Amino acid sequence: MEIAIIAHDGKKAEMIQFLMNFKAHILSKDISIVSTGTTGTNAEKAGFIVKKYLSGPFGGDAQIASRVAEGVTDMVFFFRDPLGKHPHEPDIAMLMRLCDVHNVPLATNPATAELLIKSI
Ligand code: PGA
Repeated sequence: MEIAIIAHDGKKAEMIQFLMNFKAHILSKDISIVSTGTTGTNAEKAGFIVKKYLSGPFGGDAQIASRVAEGVTDMVFFFRDPLGKHPHEPDIAMLMRLCDVHNVPLATNPATAELLIKSI
């Protein structure tokens, strides 16, 4: 199973906290993690093996959206910062739209991500 993780700057600490809370669970499953650049670097520092794509504003969200469209990514944890403005808003909307088009589970906050991770 492939899980994509993406966190906007205001949500990166929450993403790492979430990963740490479920570290044993995640490592015990056959899960590969892919991510946007900076989120992935932070996850690596927390001890996870991550396949990193470009940083979000440089196309990372679009790259992950393409994996969703191709049926490679099975689940997306995308902790958006609803209080921030983002230059790559079109890419963000595209990623969320493609999750809905392809019926791929998408968690945009830790509460939903917790329910999803507990389901696998
Ligand atoms: P980042 O990208 O992980 O490279 O910060 C996330 C985003 O802004 O979409």
